[in-house]
Amino acid sequence: MQTKMLINGELTEGSGEALPVVDPATGETITYAAEAAPEQIEAAAQAAHEAFETYRLSTPAERSTHLLAIADVIEANIDELAELETRDVGKPWPMARDEEMPLTIDTFRFMAGAARTMTGSAAGEYAAGHTSMIRKDPVGPVASIAPWNYPLMMAAWKIAAPLAAGCTVVLKPSELTPLATLRLGELLVDVLPKGVLNVVHGRGASTGDQLINDPRMEGISITGSPATGMAAMRAASNQIRHVHLELGGKAPVIVFDDADIEALAETIRYGSFFNAGQDCAQPCRLLVQDGIYDRLVAAVTDHVAEIQTGAPKAEGTEMGPVISAAQRDRVSGFVDRARGTAEVTTGGSAGEGAGFFYQPTVIANVSNDAEIACNEIFGPVVTISRFTEGGQALKIANASRYGLASSVWTKDISTAMKMTSQLRYGMTWVNTHGMPAAEMPWAAMKGSGTGCDMSVYALDAYTSVRHVMVAH
Ligand code: NAD
Repeated sequence: MQTKMLINGELTEGSGEALPVVDPATGETITYAAEAAPEQIEAAAQAAHEAFETYRLSTPAERSTHLLAIADVIEANIDELAELETRDVGKPWPMARDEEMPLTIDTFRFMAGAARTMTGSAAGEYAAGHTSMIRKDPVGPVASIAPWNYPLMMAAWKIAAPLAAGCTVVLKPSELTPLATLRLGELLVDVLPKGVLNVVHGRGASTGDQLINDPRMEGISITGSPATGMAAMRAASNQIRHVHLELGGKAPVIVFDDADIEALAETIRYGSFFNAGQDCAQPCRLLVQDGIYDRLVAAVTDHVAEIQTGAPKAEGTEMGPVISAAQRDRVSGFVDRARGTAEVTTGGSAGEGAGFFYQPTVIANVSNDAEIACNEIFGPVVTISRFTEGGQALKIANASRYGLASSVWTKDISTAMKMTSQLRYGMTWVNTHGMPAAEMPWAAMKGSGTGCDMSVYALDAYTSVRHVMVAH
């Protein structure tokens, strides 16, 4: 199994501590991958710094060719990479292979096109005898840090946009799930110029911290928890760096009396428990209008009770384990603390066996200010609370410290328009939830982050606007 890092075009074994990589479905150690030593992180930063001097001058067409080549490499190795994701995260095989891999490949293909679309506003004479023009130039080498929930897809988001913008990258995958990203590094040895993409392995507090504080890194891009986002902002404040953050979420699902109950229950069954609920946009906080409340609780409970959990490759598995024993215990802690004041209508306990399974869980009659309603659980749990009229639901949803995903369920176009215009979330879906499109931004507001991934807007995080004026 490939566990070497990619530094300046060379594959290098980490010379730090050997970290176990655990299969969450069995609790067994798959392999060990050695963490980067401080001097190896320095070497990766130096490689990105040096490569930037030539890569930033590459044409959009040349960058596009590189991104298309990465997409082709992933497509040619799709089964192997999906297998690594399945083992690393415990994902059901069809989801890793048929849902995440196509999105991962499409991220690179989309950015290959986006690289060629960057434009400035029209040049003109804004002072007599002087012609001004706007340029958008790459910010510099970027420290990119990815989480464990969709390891390769999140790595794709952290690699494709900066490379499209002309930045070089040092990428650190999560120490819990490095395998597919380290293998991608190996597959790209001869695909990219030396130093344009570097991959280092290690923990957040050691490797990640050194990387985001390295003076050669001029941009910091993190997908992860709010605590890591705060660490990135502190690091950036020491040196005045560009920061791009995609952090946690707690998505409200606002359901009006006229909503299609069956469509909603199916979306919850699939969308809330996809990836065992470890999804920043997970539809997890149902706010339901009084008139439909009881029927909706019954329908959601029935659908969720049918979800089949199991080993990633077992026939019929819809949901696998959560990432670790610590994560399972965290989920279980939230549910146990909620029992006294709310009703667990299905699930509510850990699964059997050595893997880190937790039952798909629905908790009804949750007070809108309860701990479980307000905090990101990041596991297979949805809560259901009540509201009486739309303004109240809006207030509850907008009081959240998060601002990533949200959805509104109604057949009334006026209600939908009013709610979508006033919700303070980077993404709002109507009568669906979580549907991604490479052309559209994965956008964060408030405590969920700054800026967005995906779409041409993702390039903003990696480019600086410049003014050039010529006197004549
Ligand atoms: P995490 O913050 O624990 O770790 C994310 C990455 O940051 C890992 O690579 C980790 O090693 C690194 N890290 C941790 N501390 C660091 C530090 N001090 N300095 C530098 N790097 C550090 O998050 P996680 O548990 O891997 O992922 C779950 C979180 O990610 C959830 O909150 C989820 O909502 C969020 N997430 C957000 C999005 C989005 O698009 N907004 C997408 C996926 C996941």
